[in-house]
Amino acid sequence: MGKPYKKEVSKIKKDLISIAEKKRDEFDLSKIKQLGIWKKKEKFTEIYKYPPYQAYDSLKFEELPEPKFKNEEAVIYNHFPFCLTKCVYCPFYSLIEETSPIKVKEYLTCIKKEIELLSQKKDLKKIKVKSVYFGGGTPTYIPIEDLEDYINFLKEKFDIKPGTEFASEASPETILTKEGEKKLSRLLDLGLNRLSIGVQDFNDEILKLIGRAHNSSEALKAIKTVKDVGFQNVNVDIIYGLPGQTRENWENTINLSSNIEVGSLTVAYLRIKPGERDVIHNKSMYWLFKNKPELFPTEDESFFFYLMMNERLKELGYKQRQCNWFTRSEKFVSRYLVERWQNLKDTIGFGVVASTSVGNIDYHNVNNVEDYVNAIKKSEFPFFKGKILTDDEMMRKKVAFGFKTDLIKKDYKDKFNANIREKFNDLLDKFINLKLCYETDKRFELTDLGRFLSDEICREFFSEDVKNRVKEYNKKLDEKVLNKEENKNE
Ligand code: SF4
Repeated sequence: MGKPYKKEVSKIKKDLISIAEKKRDEFDLSKIKQLGIWKKKEKFTEIYKYPPYQAYDSLKFEELPEPKFKNEEAVIYNHFPFCLTKCVYCPFYSLIEETSPIKVKEYLTCIKKEIELLSQKKDLKKIKVKSVYFGGGTPTYIPIEDLEDYINFLKEKFDIKPGTEFASEASPETILTKEGEKKLSRLLDLGLNRLSIGVQDFNDEILKLIGRAHNSSEALKAIKTVKDVGFQNVNVDIIYGLPGQTRENWENTINLSSNIEVGSLTVAYLRIKPGERDVIHNKSMYWLFKNKPELFPTEDESFFFYLMMNERLKELGYKQRQCNWFTRSEKFVSRYLVERWQNLKDTIGFGVVASTSVGNIDYHNVNNVEDYVNAIKKSEFPFFKGKILTDDEMMRKKVAFGFKTDLIKKDYKDKFNANIREKFNDLLDKFINLKLCYETDKRFELTDLGRFLSDEICREFFSEDVKNRVKEYNKKLDEKVLNKEENKNE
């Protein structure tokens, strides 16, 4: 699986901090901060679609044109919103079954019905699936017999060739027991071939503070189990910027993360901002930050943490492919993200809060499970909001997500029959001058600092219309968060 990790920890410790300090001193951050491109901890949101949902129109489903699948190829996203417990920082739509008005079985019946509804409009068997993704929530929370039934249903409905990337998110506490091991083994037999395990940190106090349902040794045990069962393609999610993180304990997390020798590591910046898709999430973390900001590393210190991780992983032979994804080799790169972000492959999303992007049509499903189930029961698409993208916006999307994956000049030329500099000359030069990116014959690439700021750079390519809509939306959301009534619900 690549170069093993052999250095003594004491030697690494000394080296790593000084290497990261040296690296940090290469950058002049003042200009970047002046220009407002620097991260703002409590405002930070990860860009994972263009336009972001905040810029959607209140269209009706009937107003959307019939989706035309490009070359009849697509990736499929499936949302399973259930978790064993709710993490303090959770920025996703997730539910605890006991308190949820809708239980797992009913939800699964509905998500299958949503696929049936689409199959009445479109021969899904004609769609060659390039990747299937199970996100959440915690998909591995779902009982294996239900997952098996759902996977078989997908295979029956779509053209999914053996060996197609079949990826799922997982959480350690759902795969630790003997039963969990059996579940993993069955999933492997059913064709699941990539597992992304949410660990977030290897420090027990931090894990407790952020409300994870596992400790560090359980996370290590879960990763070992996944590998022992036979998963070759394993990703581990780590978050930096968490309360309680210090250079010392972060270094330990780096050492453990790189010791486990998985195929890839996702190293994401903490999201504190309490709101997505018209729903206020993440409230506990937001108020912890508001009341005790000293628990959290500053943006500058978070950049230092990023450099520490970056330098260590580079030294061990990892390559930073997608902006926050470090892979040991090409075979561990997430096809789902490459197809969706880099190649702009059509994406069909099923389930509550799932989003779909086909050609220039983008839309989101409803943002809560009751509305989702009610719509499906009436045989209606659980449509929430959407947007039809102009040619200008499709070009912006290509560049913004190119910077999160790989911005190849020829890809842009082939798609739009134009040189990338024709439209984005000034912005590209601006980022080159700020040493956030550089140009080669074939592509534009982000520097280490640029990768740390990839979401902020992405945002600069948004159209003025989208920027204004996002600004307006966030203003309203901030007011809602600060509203006393909301505080009472903490
Ligand atoms: S496991 Fe993931 S989705 Fe579930 S509550 Fe925690 S952060 Fe949210």
